[in-house]
Amino acid sequence: SMYLMNDRFVKNDEVSISIEDRGYYFGDGVYEVIRVYGGIMFTAEEHIGRMYESAEKIRMTLPYGPEEMLSKLTRLIEENAIREGHVYVQATRGSAPRVHQFPGEDITPVITAYTKSYPEVPVVPEPAKLKSVDDVRWLRCDIKSLNLLANVMAKQEAHEAGCLEALLHRDGTVTEGSSSNMFGVKDGVIYTHPVSNFILNGITRRVIMQCCEEIGQPVAEEPMSLEDVYSMDEFFMSSTTNGILPVSEIDGQKVGEGTPGPVTKRLMAAFEAKLPEPAPT
Ligand code: PMP
Repeated sequence: SMYLMNDRFVKNDEVSISIEDRGYYFGDGVYEVIRVYGGIMFTAEEHIGRMYESAEKIRMTLPYGPEEMLSKLTRLIEENAIREGHVYVQATRGSAPRVHQFPGEDITPVITAYTKSYPEVPVVPEPAKLKSVDDVRWLRCDIKSLNLLANVMAKQEAHEAGCLEALLHRDGTVTEGSSSNMFGVKDGVIYTHPVSNFILNGITRRVIMQCCEEIGQPVAEEPMSLEDVYSMDEFFMSSTTNGILPVSEIDGQKVGEGTPGPVTKRLMAAFEAKLPEPAPT
């Protein structure tokens, strides 16, 4: 399959990244994952927009703009004939001898992208189990940066406890997941952490908020405490790769009946109605 390298499309064995790439040294870069449904990218403009915002927040200027990025990723998906899958794109601050401060103006960012194909018959995921984990990340979680060590550690801790995802909390205040946003439902109201520097403003979260508005579902953008979550009627998580995923258990305690509740189901239906209509093959 083909890869995007800066402004070129290259074959697998032609990809070469410098050992001095700042992504490799420092995780000095940003990234996005965009879902492809029926050959069409979902919310591509939003993802690419967030990528350029993340780049700006770390004071990195990409060599071309969002429109060109969109056309390049579209072409990559076409070249690789992706129907169901995703495209991963990242940009690092470039390759230069290892000093922490930014390299000179002559050093340009390195952009790479690849596609991943999902099985043709979709695997319906089981409701997720969560493990609460201390959120020890830095204070700029709004940036989708390549620095994911704390996320990696949290996810591993969850996995070792037989859970799909970590439920991150700062001093008992639930923020989000290691690679997802988190939502609780109590007495018909959806609760989720407000958009701030403590969470990534998920694109799926934004679509969910839009769906809620459309179906008249009340939402409170108020953080939940870790104590609150155990007594929620329903709980679900959201991400580009999983969409809306119901949660059955938190720290070994069942949420509600342990099965997807009515609010979650209604929202999942509203969300699915927004997905692109697959183009004929
Ligand atoms: N929070 C974090 C920390 C994430 O890594 C992700 C996945 N990229 C999300 C939330 C969900 O964001 P999105 O819906 O844009 O995939």
